[in-house]
Amino acid sequence: NSTSKKPPSPSPLRFSKFFQSNMRILVTGGAGFIGSHLVDKLMENEKNEVIVVDNYFTGTKDNLKKWIGHPRFELIRHDVTEPLLIEVDQIYHLACPASPIFYKYNPVKTIKTNVIGTLNMLGLAKRVGARILLTSTSEVYGDPLEHPQTENYWGNVNPIGMFFDIEKEFFALSILSPESKYPNDLVTHAAGVRSCYDEGKRVAETLMFDYHRQHGIEIRIARIFNTYGPRMNIDDGRVVSNFIAQALRNEPLTVQLPGTQTRSFCYVSDMVDGLIRLMEGENTGPINIGNPGEFTMLELAESVKELINPEVKISMVENTPDDPRQRKPDITKAKEVLGWEPKVKLRDGLPLMEEDFRQRLGVPKKN
Ligand code: NAD
Ligand code: UDP
Ligand code: UDP
Repeated sequence: NSTSKKPPSPSPLRFSKFFQSNMRILVTGGAGFIGSHLVDKLMENEKNEVIVVDNYFTGTKDNLKKWIGHPRFELIRHDVTEPLLIEVDQIYHLACPASPIFYKYNPVKTIKTNVIGTLNMLGLAKRVGARILLTSTSEVYGDPLEHPQTENYWGNVNPIGMFFDIEKEFFALSILSPESKYPNDLVTHAAGVRSCYDEGKRVAETLMFDYHRQHGIEIRIARIFNTYGPRMNIDDGRVVSNFIAQALRNEPLTVQLPGTQTRSFCYVSDMVDGLIRLMEGENTGPINIGNPGEFTMLELAESVKELINPEVKISMVENTPDDPRQRKPDITKAKEVLGWEPKVKLRDGLPLMEEDFRQRLGVPKKN
C-alpha cells in the first residue's frame, strides 16, 4: 500500500521526452478483450502514442482494425516470454489468457507468461524508467474465506491445484457448443486446474513489489474482477459470453449447479476507466477493480432470458469441483484512492454485448 517512488536515475533513453510531449504507451495483450478497449480509450488522447505487443493466442488483429495504419499506433507480434527492447514511458501489462479454457490448455505456458513475461516487462521498465501497471486478478484470493474481499486478504489458493474429478471436468466442458471454433483437443486439454493462473499472478505481484522496493520502479497493480462486454471470445466458456451466445442460438442456458454461486460483473468501459485512473494516480495498489453488484448464476440466466430471448430454456448442469462459491469485490479503496466506481449496471451492459454478439454470430434482431 505504499506510495510509489521515482526510479533512482532516469534512463538516458527517456531524454527524447524533453523534445516531444507525446506519451509513448506499451499495451501488452492489447489485441485481447480488455486490452483492445484500453487501446481505444488511450488513442482518444492525441498526445498518446500506443504500441501493442501480442502473440495472438487469445486476441485478434480484428479487435484493433480501426487503428492499424494510424500514425500514432503500432502493432507488434511478440511473445512477452521473450525479451523486448523498445523505448516507452508507460507499460500496461495485460498479456495473459484470462479464460480458464485457454489458461488451462497449456499451464506451463501460462505460468511462463505470468512469471517470465512480467519479469521481462519489469526489466524493460527498469531500463527505460517507465511506469508499469499489472492486471492481476481476483483469482489471487482463490476460494476466499472472507467475503467480500478487501486488498488486505491474502487469499486461499492451492499451489498445486485443486483435486478434481476428471469425469466432471469433461462434463462441464462438454457444454461448449458443437459449433465452437476451438478444436476438440483444446477442449480436452482444458480439463485441469487453476493454479498456473492463480499462482502465476501471485508471483507476478511479488515481482512487481520486489522491483519497486529494490530498483525503485514505479508500479501499479489492479486486481480485476469478472469483466464483460463486446469483443469477448464467443466460445471462451465464461458465463456471460456463454449465456448470451446460447440465448442468441436458442440453446438452453447452462446454469452450473447449484446456481446459487455468485459473481459480480464489471462492464469493460468501467474497467478501462479504473485502469487508467490507477496508472495516472499515485497509489501502487493492489487495488480491487470490479463491480460490487452481486448476482447468483440463476439470476444472471433469468436476466439474459428476459432481455435477450424470453423463449430460451434454462437447464441445470454439473459444475467443476473448484468453483468459488461467492465472489464480490470490496471497492472501498478504489473509491477513496482513485475516486472510481462503476457506472454501467448489468441490465444496461448486457444489451451492449448482445449487439456485438449478434453481429459476430450473424443473428439479426427481429422487430
Ligand atoms: P484476453 O485473453 O482477451 O487477452 C489477453 C491477451 O494477451 C490476448 O490478446 C493474448 O493473445 C495475449 N497474450 C497471451 N499470452 C501472451 C504472451 N505470452 N505474449 C504476448 N501476448 C500474449 O483476456 P482479457 O480478458 O482481455 O484479460 C486481460 C488481462 O486482464 C489478463 O492479464 C487477465 O489475467 C486480466 N484479468 C481479466 C479478467 C476478465 O474478467 N476478463 C479478470 C481478471 C483479470
Ligand atoms: N529485459 C527486456 N527488455 C529490456 C530490459 C530487460 O526484455 O529492455 C528483460 C531481460 O532480458 C531480463 C529481464 O528483463 O530477462 C529482467 O531484466 P533485469 O535487467 O532486471 O535483470 P537481468 O537482465 O539482470 O537478469
Ligand atoms: N457458469 C455457469 N454456466 C456456464 C459457465 C459458467 O453457470 O455456462 C458459472 C460457473 O460455475 C461459475 C460462474 O458461472 O460459478 C462464473 O464462471 P466463469 O468461468 O465465467 O468465471 P470465474 O469462475 O473465473 O469467475
